Amino acid sequence: MTVRTRYAPSPTGAPQLGNIRTALFGWLFARGSDGTFILRIEDTDQARAVEGGIQQQYEALRWLGLNWDEGPDVGGPHAPYVQSQRLDLYRQAAERLVAEGNAYPCFCTVQRLDDLRKQQVAAKQPPGYDRLCRGLSAEERERRLSAGESHVIRFAVPLSGEVTFHDLIRGDVTVQNGTLDDFVIIKSDGYPTYHLAVVVDDHAMEITHVLRGEEWLPSAPRHQLLHKALGIEPPVFVHMSVILGPDRKKLSKRLGATSVLEYRDAGYLPEAIINFLALIGWSLDDKTEIINRQQLLENFRLEDISPSPGILDSEKLRWMNGEYIRALPEDDLAERILPFLLEELPETARKPDLEFVKRIVPLIQTRIEVLTDVWNLTAFFFTEDVFLAPGDLLGKRFQDDQAAALMALQTAERKLAELDSWTATVIEEALRALGDELGLKPRDFFGLIRMGVTGSAVSPPLFESLEVLGREPTLERLASAREVLS
Ligand code: GLU
Repeated sequence: MTVRTRYAPSPTGAPQLGNIRTALFGWLFARGSDGTFILRIEDTDQARAVEGGIQQQYEALRWLGLNWDEGPDVGGPHAPYVQSQRLDLYRQAAERLVAEGNAYPCFCTVQRLDDLRKQQVAAKQPPGYDRLCRGLSAEERERRLSAGESHVIRFAVPLSGEVTFHDLIRGDVTVQNGTLDDFVIIKSDGYPTYHLAVVVDDHAMEITHVLRGEEWLPSAPRHQLLHKALGIEPPVFVHMSVILGPDRKKLSKRLGATSVLEYRDAGYLPEAIINFLALIGWSLDDKTEIINRQQLLENFRLEDISPSPGILDSEKLRWMNGEYIRALPEDDLAERILPFLLEELPETARKPDLEFVKRIVPLIQTRIEVLTDVWNLTAFFFTEDVFLAPGDLLGKRFQDDQAAALMALQTAERKLAELDSWTATVIEEALRALGDELGLKPRDFFGLIRMGVTGSAVSPPLFESLEVLGREPTLERLASAREVLS
């Protein structure tokens, strides 16, 4: 049997971490078993579709390198892969169900259903369709259909007995048929509901393993009834648990319930996101935290997915991202950093090229956790001059000794102007000697220089930074720092 898994997003919102984890697990399982990974767009809920929803799914999957073998854009033996283009298939399935007595047209109006629900609530009964139209005579059905009366198609749930489906990580789940109502399979606009479309498509596309979110668990018994009625062998189901916040509550907009693309824009690496998501609800052992794509492919097993809720630990993601950043070759990191710098640069700043960024990388690679950290650390490389307030420049050490600071800046400027070469080692040697001469502690003296040149008390290593900044800009900044004081 060739493994075939699918990721079946609805374009009803941004691709969130939970969605993408489902895609990742399906992808890992397919790729790890020489199977096929399919992308299918489930757009039958036209009212809930959002502008650009499909594009965002593509973008997220591509960014993460989760490539698909069959899908709307690449085609495949079961095209089309967009549900709104497969309406005939669903209609045929529904007609067959009606013909065999497993489904029926329902003419009840929205108003009637509304009233019914209110009555049920008032009487403390579980809400659900009362099957009024199930009892219509064949003649009446025909008459109302021919008259073109608006209707839906409902599945006729068996009135007794029970239904069991198997979930790979949850085992057998059994539900009494009496607890299920006659759910809609074709809506009044002619579109199928999710229930019918998913069953028809998973079968037509020969999906062997359905991985999807736990929120679909309550739907699974209905799907099982549809399988039976249509004579379909069900696929293997894996309902993956929800992802909760550290407080074990549902994710919120502020915490995690955002698009994966926002993580990209915040400077996370796709490698880190993959690693991070893989470890929510799956693990290699109890301790391995860093596990790359190749190792995941080799070790991932569906059976090891946990049915208990996964917890989103944003701190861990940041840390992990830092680890991946440190592991990148310098040139690679430079290429990834460049767009983030260009994004932040003010109009007037000098535009860095890749060669320049490559020189900065060794200064910051161990100091950042996300790519958006780079700008704060390196802005001084790109701006003409740095803004300095005398108080900041003097700090605690020189606040009552302005003359000493002025003297230190002046002599440093002169000394650096005279150096034969401009390398970090030569600069360091000269400044250390000068600090001794002036009787200043290295921390105080270098702090002053750092402030004067970078405008900040924290920067990448000082001497290396001066080397990369260049002699002229360094001297100019020391001169302006001097002016600030005098
Ligand atoms: N279209 C569903 C969703 O976006 C997918 C459900 C499934 O995978 O069966 O959540």
